Amino acid sequence: MTAAEPVYRLGEFHALKAAGRQFLYLVPAGAIFELDDAAAVLLDSVGGGATHAELRQRLEARGVAEAEDVIEELRAARAIVTGDEPNNTPAEPPQDFPLQTLVMNLTNQCNLSCQYCYEFGEDKVATPEGKPKFMDLETAKSSVDFLLEQSAGRGAVHITFFGGETLMNFPLLKQVVAYANDRAARQGRTIDFSLTTNATLLTPAIIEFLSENRIGVTVSMDGPPELHDKLRVFANGRGSYDIIAPRVKALIAHHRTRPITARVTLTRGVTDVVRIFRHLKQDLGFHEVGFAPVTTSPDRLYAIDDRGMDGVLDQFHTLAEEWLEYALRGQMHGFSNVSDTIAELVQGVNKSHPCGAALGLVGVGPSGDIAPCHRFVDSDTHALGHISRGIDRAKQRDFLSRGHINTKYDCHSCWARPLCAGGCHHEAFVRYGDTGHPNLHYCDWIRDWTETCLKIYCSLSAQNPEFLDRFAERKALA
Ligand code: SF4
Ligand code: SF4
Repeated sequence: MTAAEPVYRLGEFHALKAAGRQFLYLVPAGAIFELDDAAAVLLDSVGGGATHAELRQRLEARGVAEAEDVIEELRAARAIVTGDEPNNTPAEPPQDFPLQTLVMNLTNQCNLSCQYCYEFGEDKVATPEGKPKFMDLETAKSSVDFLLEQSAGRGAVHITFFGGETLMNFPLLKQVVAYANDRAARQGRTIDFSLTTNATLLTPAIIEFLSENRIGVTVSMDGPPELHDKLRVFANGRGSYDIIAPRVKALIAHHRTRPITARVTLTRGVTDVVRIFRHLKQDLGFHEVGFAPVTTSPDRLYAIDDRGMDGVLDQFHTLAEEWLEYALRGQMHGFSNVSDTIAELVQGVNKSHPCGAALGLVGVGPSGDIAPCHRFVDSDTHALGHISRGIDRAKQRDFLSRGHINTKYDCHSCWARPLCAGGCHHEAFVRYGDTGHPNLHYCDWIRDWTETCLKIYCSLSAQNPEFLDRFAERKALA
């Protein structure tokens, strides 16, 4: 070996097996690579380091005929590296990154008193005192104009309506849809709408409007009555299940233009994932059901402890296995926690930030304050400007710099970072008091879950690649 000769070492990857085959998750690229026998022999031959000539020799000694091709292939994939490769950590986004999504909090009022609510509960970041409770038409129109201005170059953009309880300001929602469609059409563009609701205020007329306007609906719902009613209650403590169940059934029966999703918040005692899934999917008929553990300080009564989170993971695995069985038959299963990660893998994401907050997405509160996302709306500490003045670029830059993967040193050696990137900024603030802090309390959990989804992706790429090819389209049509 001469000093000038580069020495190959193993690159940064996470190896996994699925469907009897071997795969590498190539971390710097966020890409998946299937190993054939020759490539596996090469990785095994690198040892503590080897020059090109040594590698070729070792491969040939082990019967690999196309040694040069194999070395080149793995070098190009960066499964082996010499240290001279250009750094490809995700770059800082440009200052004028175009918006894709505007989340409009039409009201900060809610007719339920869910005890875990991040907006009203003990961990709230909002400071709504002295601000309007309902957005007015002028603020809403300015928000639409702002979205269209700030999304130059995008043919299609997205507005999602949020609350409080979104439907408490349904008259405004209708006006916004009409206004936004008109403004977008004049520019030869389209706007896609969605909303999140607790479903208590759904009426046949509202359902008809949502269906006619192709408005995607996510219902916050925590399962069968004995689980849902534990925390999703009215101010007098009465559970909301009996009010919403018939409305949800009517919604699913009559809203025919978009899939209807349930979003479940898991809390202590509400961790029976499989049972909740069965009820929402089979008994009520939701197309997709997604779960998220409550975002809270660990000492809250409704926080899930480590044992509880292990139980959640076990049940996620059960549903993940079903998801794969369905996908191998070419069918959608409806467990969003898998679908969402598979969608990211199909796109080959390699995140600089955990989500689009303050990047392609911002939230606007009833007062017109701009926030990184819906969860920070009405918070003076986190405001990024006002709809009348636009985004304060210095504040946005500060938020994004702190949340960038490059600043999260604990994540730099983690193979799950292309998908996780440190996790939700809001959760980080609630847990650590800093939106840019990585959510280190759940790393093992996230890595286990990420590996599960990677294996599903790899199994499909080996056994039913057409499903992955058509995944985005199928997901939208589920
Ligand atoms: S927060 Fe944890 S799991 Fe996520 S990228 Fe960082 S180290 Fe990895
Ligand atoms: S900061 Fe958290 S809540 Fe907000 S968009 Fe990102 S992941 Fe979602």
